[in-house]
Amino acid sequence: HGRIITADVVVSAADLKYTETKLLPQSLQTHPEKYWDKRNPGLSSVLIYAGVKGKLPELAHHTLLFSRDWDPDFEAVFGPQKSLQKSWSHSIYVSKTSATDADVAPEGYENLFVLVPAAAEPEIGHGSAYIEDSSKVNGGVAGRGEDERVRSIAKQAIALIAQWAGIDDLAQRIVVSKTVGPADFAERYYSWSGGAIGPAHTLAQSAFFRGKNKSAKVENLYYAGATTVPGVGVPLCLISAENIIKRLRADHTPGPLPEN
Ligand SMILES: Cc1cc2nc3c(=O)[nH]c(=O)nc-3n(C[C@H](O)[C@H](O)[C@H](O)COP(=O)(O)OP(=O)(O)OC[C@H]3O[C@@H](n4cnc5c(N)ncnc54)[C@H](O)[C@@H]3O)c2cc1C
Repeated sequence: HGRIITADVVVSAADLKYTETKLLPQSLQTHPEKYWDKRNPGLSSVLIYAGVKGKLPELAHHTLLFSRDWDPDFEAVFGPQKSLQKSWSHSIYVSKTSATDADVAPEGYENLFVLVPAAAEPEIGHGSAYIEDSSKVNGGVAGRGEDERVRSIAKQAIALIAQWAGIDDLAQRIVVSKTVGPADFAERYYSWSGGAIGPAHTLAQSAFFRGKNKSAKVENLYYAGATTVPGVGVPLCLISAENIIKRLRADHTPGPLPEN
């Protein structure tokens, strides 16, 4: 029951694996399922959005907390030994958004965004943020709750921040909290294996090893966004859009597009 829309050019900015393996028939796939077998989906994350009573002078606008020995953190997120029990990094990013934006928290409260890197394993589960509308998203199950692993990672991460930043009563001062887990990334954004930011920038998945922004099988099908070249992050995604414009204009010059 689809609708056919004709187009001269199609640009997919969705997850490349999803575009290739779910939106195209096998005969038209440049990167079929087996292409992905040896590739690395990168990392996912557990996100915590927390409203905290009182001020938090212990935290800066951006706080990066690094373990003294961060090898176990990489191992937990990327290593072959990662397990569902040990699948998150103790090196954590905290943004105190209320440090610079008065609109994000009422007077006397702070607003925190916490990014806990986690393995790209949808089995880690869902957070609580989208429970209300979970029946509307692809694969969402109405009435489900926050998964225990996500809840546990969030709880431990808050305890770690409290300990490292010296905010003993941080957990008790949280008045509202929502979480997002790897399964949310998989279901809401169709991201490969619940990854949060796109395939890892390993050597074999960077620069020209990362593939092309054009289908080899479907004429005028292009790819943009974090899962194709040049890669992850807003600036690189914008470059991916520029690259498509240049391809369409047959512009082979190096450097950015002219401003006009
Ligand atoms: C928690 C977090 C923090 C980050 N922090 C930073 C940062 O500080 N700085 C930075 O530069 N980058 C950051 N990034 C990375 C950056 O956000 C991404 O690289 C970038 O937003 C990806 O853009 P995109 O257009 O490729 O994908 P998206 O922004 O994910 O857009 C893809 C869109 O396609 C939609 N879609 C998927 N499948 C379909 C389909 N079949 N049909 C229709 N629509 C579909 C999705 O719903 C989504 O809206 C962060 C990422 C995360 C997750």
